[in-house]
Amino acid sequence: MKIKKAELIITAAFQSQYPPEGKLEIAFAGRSNVGKSSLINRLVNRNGLARTSGQPGKTQTLNFYNINDDFRLVDLPGYGYAKVSMKEREKWAKMIEVYLKNRKSLIEVILLVDIRHEPGEHDKMMYEWIKSCGFNGIVIATKADKISRGNWAKHISVIQKKLGVEDKDFIIPFSASKKFNVDEVWDTIEQLLEI
Ligand code: GDP
Repeated sequence: MKIKKAELIITAAFQSQYPPEGKLEIAFAGRSNVGKSSLINRLVNRNGLARTSGQPGKTQTLNFYNINDDFRLVDLPGYGYAKVSMKEREKWAKMIEVYLKNRKSLIEVILLVDIRHEPGEHDKMMYEWIKSCGFNGIVIATKADKISRGNWAKHISVIQKKLGVEDKDFIIPFSASKKFNVDEVWDTIEQLLEI
């Protein structure tokens, strides 16, 4: 994918703030700190585009990015902080639900999980939610540089089993820092966009 333009359109907390429908959207979901911002920055080759935190506690918003005036990447609010209140959890769930259920332009939600760890209950719930909305159920296993390549398959099997992923080819090991499988992720996105 040749990136001619990559810009933040808006950070939206409410549906009324979403950009108008029209351009196809691919969204990324996952627990906070899993590497969503780093993935987006790496895909578009702009280091500061999406905010990377290194520590949990970012504002809970949907961030819409315009790519080449052609399509959008959407960073969904992360989940899994131990410290958030029930009220905040409910707010998060509502935010995701409103987007997933109503957004006509949304063609896929890709779940990110850390390759090193067995997915948690929240990841499993998120994956089931994604599948129940009718999406393919593609998973990106982040931070693949943190384990040796020889161990990728073993970790991918664990992820596949825990989440109940149909085919292990749906799970793409990825590293933002080492640039592993950037092209593979773009190929997948291009297939979804049919470009
Ligand atoms: P987000 O909360 O999901 O947006 O996660 P971030 O992109 O902010 O990343 C969280 C932390 O993980 C940061 O300290 C990143 O530097 C680190 N990180 C993200 N991607 C990678 C990766 O591919 N490899 C390694 N080693 N660290 C990563």
